[in-house]
Amino acid sequence: MTRTLCLGLLVACLVGCGASVEQPVEPTVQALLGPDEIRAVRYLVSVDSSLSLLTAEVCFDGAASDTLLPLNLAAFSSLRAATSGGRDLVVSRERGIVLEQLANGCAEYRVDLVAAANSRMSGRSEDATMANPTELIWYPARLDLRVPVTVRFALPDGIDVAVPWEREGDVYRLDSTIEIAGSVVFGRFDRVQVDVPHGVLDVVVVGDASEVSVGLDGIAEWLREAGRAVATFGGRFPRERAMVVVMPIFYPGRDPVGFGMVRRGGGASVLLLMNARAEREALIRDWTAVHEFSHLFLPRLRQRDVWISEGFATYAQEILRARAGLISEQEAYQHLYNGMSRQRSRYPDSLGVAAERMHETRGYQRIYWAGAAFMMELDQRLRRAGSSLDEAVLSARGAWSREESWDGLDCLRAFDASLSRPVAIPFAEQTRASNRFPSFRGVLRQLGVTSERGTVSLAPNETRTAIAGSRP
Ligand SMILES: [Zn+2]
Repeated sequence: MTRTLCLGLLVACLVGCGASVEQPVEPTVQALLGPDEIRAVRYLVSVDSSLSLLTAEVCFDGAASDTLLPLNLAAFSSLRAATSGGRDLVVSRERGIVLEQLANGCAEYRVDLVAAANSRMSGRSEDATMANPTELIWYPARLDLRVPVTVRFALPDGIDVAVPWEREGDVYRLDSTIEIAGSVVFGRFDRVQVDVPHGVLDVVVVGDASEVSVGLDGIAEWLREAGRAVATFGGRFPRERAMVVVMPIFYPGRDPVGFGMVRRGGGASVLLLMNARAEREALIRDWTAVHEFSHLFLPRLRQRDVWISEGFATYAQEILRARAGLISEQEAYQHLYNGMSRQRSRYPDSLGVAAERMHETRGYQRIYWAGAAFMMELDQRLRRAGSSLDEAVLSARGAWSREESWDGLDCLRAFDASLSRPVAIPFAEQTRASNRFPSFRGVLRQLGVTSERGTVSLAPNETRTAIAGSRP
């Protein structure tokens, strides 16, 4: 069966697109594809030196696709022209860029990069632009997943590009995850490679690193420490490579990091908005980078199950910083206690329903902290069953492909695979269906964590020390 990339506009493809799409391109793929099929797609992308216009040439080997579709509907508003051999191509909401009578099997389109940078979660500084590739890449409809799709950049002097895509020489290879939101940065920017255990971070600073009080070295140190903390979970960073886009901004308040987000399109990229005035120690102790990096241990989950992924990252941000010695064990449990004890004990809707509506209601706090309480207790339950959250996640990772958007319970099912009786699934089902905040106080007590007037104290406890004790 021919497998095709599911695009937003292809209604016919909207059903049954959840299948795993991890499939290496076989050397024989060219032989398998007939002469009347698309054999390769090559993009040549350039931008002007003022970063206002992006031009993409798309060439086909073998047959051409009959249309290029946007990966994101916002792409329509920044598209400026589509041509082939100097002749205008038809663009329509229904059919995208219609590819008829292509000159030399190639089409060209132009995108207003300023408009694309104005979109949600994009941005622009004086010298650099960050955009979402789903608003820049128009993609062939119904493309066989075995067909190689490559991108080459031709940039003016002094203009660089950063993408999380797989690189082979001067060519980048796109995989099916390109349809998910991702990040690309064009411009003049500071860049530094940061080694983390069994991985490397490609750190790009959008904005002037010389205006950042800790400088580029301080940014590198912060992310190296966050990467080291995350790697205390199983001994390795969750990806061999990730791109980190740091945007320093001046804002009132003392938070060293204002916002973080992980994206998976074309590879892992993490966006961090840092306070340009942040001080070294506060930055290294901050939770945000550890939280975002921790997300990469789990696959992307469906909206109704974000309490699982956010809960995991929220629990991990505390426990892993304590393990790495960035904060004390007492601070880690104090943060967990603070976050959980600020929530209500009962809600009108179940956790699953609330997660589904999280962006609408902005009820983030309950989702994150109920998820963290679930993970804290699950960790203990797994330990009683002879496993642990570390072991469960690391042994389950092979069962998850990166591309799929997973059902949370299917994702957790792999936790139980090696146990004599299921632990994670019944607990998750019960938590998801409940309108009560998980009862975290008893769980903390079992860990030797008690509170008096809001301040936690720790009694000697082997399990807790094993979970979060500072490790060399
Ligand atoms: Zn998160």
